[in-house]
Amino acid sequence: MTRKLFVTTALPYANAAFHIGHMMEYIQADIWVRFQRMQRDGDAQREVHFVGADDTHGTPIMMAAEKEGITPQQFVARIAAGRAQYLDGFHIAFDNWYSTDSPENVELSQGIYRKLRDAGLIVTKTVDRFFDPVKGMFLADRNIKGECPKCGAKDQYGDNCESCGAAYQPTELVKPFSVFTGSTPILKPSEQYFFKLSDPRCFAFLKEWLNTPGRLQPEMVNKVSEWLGESGEKLADWDISRDAPYFGIPIPDAPGKFFYVWLDAPVGYLASLKNYCQKMAIDYDALLNDPATEQIHFIGKDIVSFHLLFWPAMLKFAGHPVIEKLKVNVHGHLTVNNEKMSKSRGTGISPLRYLDLGMNPEWLRYYIAFKLNSKVEDLDFTADDFVARVNSDLIGKYVNIASRSAGFIAKKFDGKLATSLSDGAQGWLQRALTKTVDGVVSERQASIAGHFENREFGKALREIMEIADITNQYVDENKPWILAKDTTKMAELQDVCTTALVLFRQLTILLSPVLPQVAADVAKFFNEERLVWAATEVAGGGVLQSMLGRKIGAYNHLMTRVDAKMVEALFDAPVAVPVAARQAKHEAVDAASNGGGIIEALAPEISIDDFSKIDLRIAKIINCEHVSGSDKLLRLTLDAGEGRLRNVFSGIKAAYQPDELVGKLTVLVANLAPRKMKFGVSEGMVLAASAADENANPGIYILNPWPGATPGMRIR
Ligand SMILES: [Zn+2]
Repeated sequence: MTRKLFVTTALPYANAAFHIGHMMEYIQADIWVRFQRMQRDGDAQREVHFVGADDTHGTPIMMAAEKEGITPQQFVARIAAGRAQYLDGFHIAFDNWYSTDSPENVELSQGIYRKLRDAGLIVTKTVDRFFDPVKGMFLADRNIKGECPKCGAKDQYGDNCESCGAAYQPTELVKPFSVFTGSTPILKPSEQYFFKLSDPRCFAFLKEWLNTPGRLQPEMVNKVSEWLGESGEKLADWDISRDAPYFGIPIPDAPGKFFYVWLDAPVGYLASLKNYCQKMAIDYDALLNDPATEQIHFIGKDIVSFHLLFWPAMLKFAGHPVIEKLKVNVHGHLTVNNEKMSKSRGTGISPLRYLDLGMNPEWLRYYIAFKLNSKVEDLDFTADDFVARVNSDLIGKYVNIASRSAGFIAKKFDGKLATSLSDGAQGWLQRALTKTVDGVVSERQASIAGHFENREFGKALREIMEIADITNQYVDENKPWILAKDTTKMAELQDVCTTALVLFRQLTILLSPVLPQVAADVAKFFNEERLVWAATEVAGGGVLQSMLGRKIGAYNHLMTRVDAKMVEALFDAPVAVPVAARQAKHEAVDAASNGGGIIEALAPEISIDDFSKIDLRIAKIINCEHVSGSDKLLRLTLDAGEGRLRNVFSGIKAAYQPDELVGKLTVLVANLAPRKMKFGVSEGMVLAASAADENANPGIYILNPWPGATPGMRIR
């Protein structure tokens, strides 16, 4: 049976641009979708439909439009027009982007309502609603703020708490106030329509639905079970109506009443699918009734009560076929430097600013994927970690393989890969692409596919990086740059570079759900239309067959490293982190990721005579000061025991305060020709250690001799 997947993400409210939290959810869903699109079920390509829409109705949009003197439709159209730059910018490939303010949504929402009414699940009650006595209108939930009745968080909206996720009625808010006038709302009676969630049928259904295996993450089953109570006693009827004036869908046979936005918003997934099916000439009803169809829905933990109580119950008792197919994947929030995003302050990361700075969208896709698992956990973005992760994995491990091998194939072999591989090389392919657990050999690709399917993206990427590590180890051991200098070793060189590129192509296939643009560029490099997720069949040589003897294109550099300065510029208000704290953090990161073992390649061999040309001396730092006009240099006054002092400029300002250095001993290159610089003449150079990947570890460490050494001693 060919799986048919209907994939959706929470609909963003159309009163503002996307923030980084939206992008995280879309990136998560898009990676899953791209993985699924590459899969086959038997002979057939898996069918995937990925749709989204703007959530357009409700009072906040109505009021915002009124303020600007335009219609709500004009207002949401403007917001909708701004979506593409984000979605395209981060390679989010929705098949359709639609709107809840659409004829399909009116028809579907009203149809669901009529079915619920026929099933006896709609009741009317006269209730006291909040009314702004100054403005003279009923107040929508979002027009009222106050303290959360469950957790006491301040400044929460009238429908649900962004702090603890609880849903409640606006009348339950503590110390409520109108957001328009700040006045204390008064209660005024109004006839309202309710969905009878308290009906025993709802409890019986939800209990069973939640507990269907594969439906929800276990922690969500527990959370929602708590909301149900032992016998449904905690389920309260849900007010689904709002009084005119309201921007929304009219309730049938109820003049002046509109559906509360939270009723028609989740129906918008179906409206977008229906609209898409019409465009693509797909039979919408047949698709939803097909037993092979699944809906996978991605949402944040803050809106689960709407999606795991009201929505499934509504769909069920409206007899909607999608209810049996629905699986919901809940994710945590994106925090930045461990701080929760705030609506007013944002996160400090604007998705458009990220793109405007020229930052590669695939860096963010990789970083987010690396941190994602299948649990409902918050994900933290920290600048240092982002830079270290991207530069170490994508540049240091992955891209490095191609940049160390592709050039030789172009230069020495007219772009042709070897027509066969040595046994040794084939052994390395086997080693990189398979793993042995309890004596059983299996292809890593299958295990990586399992991680993608289960939304364990971090595990998938860690396993992919293991293949990259083995490949780099292979290149390091075989040193193509040495082989290239020996004309008798050309066959060996071609063997090594071909093997590295076969593995590089395989790595790209595995990374392509995360890095779609890189994958497209790599396909071009290998003269393929697109890379296909086929079984590697390492033992049978399957991975090799199509590659041997193939002519490949010119290698263009695929990706640059992240410049830490770009990430600093990303934050609206850069936070100054003391150098010492930064270094401690890097050390922790390095210790945690130790095992990558990427160090700078060794310089060509030299003789002892070569070395002895360099006169290294112990020198005492007599004085040290900042250099006015330079953000890199410190001016050192050194005593190397010569009976005179030397002036040396050193680019270590980022790492040391002048006071820390005065009085210390260090190492001076004493016979370096004096160099005239903008700030004066530098008479020599002090030695310092730094990492090859200065973004992974930007530290600069000057040398300090063992106690007992004195100024003027030669180092030999
Ligand atoms: Zn709360």
